[in-house]
Amino acid sequence: MEKKQFKAESKRLLDLMIHSIYTHKEIFLRELISNASDAIDKLYYLALTENTGISRDDFYIRLAVDKEARTLTISDNGIGMSKEEMENNLGTIAKSGSLQFKEENADKMDAKEEIDIIGQFGVGFYSAFMVASKIQVVSKAYGQEQAHLWESTGAEGYSIEPCEKENPGTEIILYIKEDTEDEKYGEFLEEYKVKGLIKKYSDYIRYPIKMNAEKH
Ligand code: ADP
Ligand code: MG
Repeated sequence: MEKKQFKAESKRLLDLMIHSIYTHKEIFLRELISNASDAIDKLYYLALTENTGISRDDFYIRLAVDKEARTLTISDNGIGMSKEEMENNLGTIAKSGSLQFKEENADKMDAKEEIDIIGQFGVGFYSAFMVASKIQVVSKAYGQEQAHLWESTGAEGYSIEPCEKENPGTEIILYIKEDTEDEKYGEFLEEYKVKGLIKKYSDYIRYPIKMNAEKH
């Protein structure tokens, strides 16, 4: 199994996420749900042009919590990612406005100000490292046979290996951090709390968001 390092510029933002003191950590859910919705949009438009027989009603986003395993899983049946796409899209922060801003202003900012940047720009996928000690992404690109598992604990880079997945789409499994005196990460394993966050941040999403139904 290959172990790869994040690109240097991504690594800095990642460090910021892992050690985040940002108070609105919950925005990670908005980021992951909007990614799921984007992925569904992509397959939906492909379906329109390719006559695939997929209809709009087939699409959904699913959230599941497992308190014992301490996992929160966000699944979608969107376009999915190939190995190369995982590599390129999850291993780098190519177009992050927050990163560029940080780089230009790094010497002028203290830690607190750095953190404010997260709120202003939104940082996408990596924001999940604010609440997760490990992330697994299981994905199968539409039209491909082989699925892949991307896995990372953040700082030490990531690995990608082939795995089984029946249908196209993506499953993001967050291993939620242990509670500390200051942070009750366990909240993100409470169904009512997660439902509340969906209402708060993702009410505008055009696909059904299902909670804790069967996994597959
Ligand atoms: P952005 O959404 O602004 O592009 P993100 O960090 O949120 O940045 O996501 C990075 C990229 O990873 C996305 O552009 C997309 O290519 C890929 N990605 C993330 N989540 C998913 C998903 N659920 N399905 C397919 N691709 C995804
Ligand atoms: Mg995004």
